[in-house]
This record gives sequence, C-alpha cells and structure tokens, in this order.
Amino acid sequence: MFFVFDGVDGAGKSTQLNLFADWLRTRGLDVDCCSDPGTTELGHQMRKLLLGNHAIEIHMRSEMLMFMTARCQLVEQKIRPALAAGKTVVCDRYVFSTVVYQGHAGNLDPDEVWQVNQVATAGLMPDLTFIFDLDVESASQRLGESRDRMESRGSDYFQQVRDGFLEEAKRWPDVTRVIDASGDIESIQATIRQAAEPLLEKRPG
Ligand code: ADP
Ligand code: MG
Repeated sequence: MFFVFDGVDGAGKSTQLNLFADWLRTRGLDVDCCSDPGTTELGHQMRKLLLGNHAIEIHMRSEMLMFMTARCQLVEQKIRPALAAGKTVVCDRYVFSTVVYQGHAGNLDPDEVWQVNQVATAGLMPDLTFIFDLDVESASQRLGESRDRMESRGSDYFQQVRDGFLEEAKRWPDVTRVIDASGDIESIQATIRQAAEPLLEKRPG
C-alpha cells in the first residue's frame, strides 16, 4: 500500500504524515516513510540544489527534470523494494507537486509533466494521495519567517499552486482526497484515517 501526502506548503502534511505512520504501525503494519525529493543520497543532493536559497540559475524545465531525477531514484532505491517486501509506504509529496508547482504554477504543460513522470516512475502510482488544501494566507502564517527556494515565490504563485492542486484532484477523483487543512490537527488526522480505512481493509493478507 502506497500513500502520499501532497498539497501546499505549510498546510500540515509532515505533521499529519507522522501521526498517520504511527497509527499504521499500531495496526501492525511495517511502515516506511519517505520524502520526495529526499530520502536517497541523490535525492538529498537534488533537494539542496532545488530548495536551497542559492544563486544558481535553474530553468523551469530543468527544475522539473531535477525533481523527476530525485523521484526516479526514490522509486527504484526505496519505494519499489519496500512495496515488494510487503511494507506500507507513506511519502511526503510525489507527482502532483511537480505537475502543479512546475506545470500549473510554473507555466509548463501539466500533461507534459505527467508524461515525464511516467518515465521517471515507470508508472508507479500511489494507491491514495491526500491533497492538503489551505488558503495562501493561513499557509503563510503557519510557515512563519523562514522560506526555501520554492516557498519564496510569492502569493500569486501560491494561489496558482493551490488552484492547480484542486484542479488535478478533480481530474483524479478515484485516487485523491482533498483534505481541508484549516481545522485542528486531531480532526484532520481523523479524516485521513477514515479515508484510508477502506483501503487497509481491502489489503491482501
Ligand atoms: P507542511 O509539511 O505541509 O509544510 P507542516 O506539517 O510542516 O506543514 O506544518 C507547518 C506548521 O504548521 C508547523 O509549525 C505545524 O506545527 C503547524 N500546523 C500543522 N498542522 C496544523 C493545524 N492543523 N493547525 C495549526 N497549525 C498547524
Ligand atoms: Mg513538510
């Protein structure tokens, strides 16, 4: 079983992912958590290039391909082997982020980004992606002062990110759940668990 937590920055993805992984473990599942980009050595290096506040010029298409490179490594080195070993994988961000940040908000063609993703992941898709939705101002308040390279792109970009996620969620209703991230931590977690429950019950073994 493969779950992804995706959506706007500052919405509470990491907070909820950790609570969800703990809950899965209490149910006896062997859980691997990962971050995209990240988790592998190549992923960490790409992450530093992509999110560090440096002066390197990176074209939007280069940026998209760098995210895809990190993802390819994550899929082949971690996610696919974990799933093959019967583990449950919970990943912080995945394909929707690239389709939205570099596609919808970054002016690349979202369909082209989907095509590149197909190559990068060799078609490995999550069973369910939670898409965290929160208005730009609340998200910005939660983030506080510190901003990485993506997070410093300003509120117009973030509005496009938010709209892009909602549009993609509408396109893929069977494999996504939009999570209203404006509530308190416990009630959001309860919603997530409820949405995952039917999938966990269906699971073989
Ligand atoms: P993300 O991973 O989506 O960027 P985080 O989980 O890091 O978001 O949360 C961003 C900040 O908001 C953290 O300081 C976190 O403690 C806080 N936070 C998370 N969920 C909530 C919530 N439901 N209500 C208020 N603050 C929250
Ligand atoms: Mg996070």
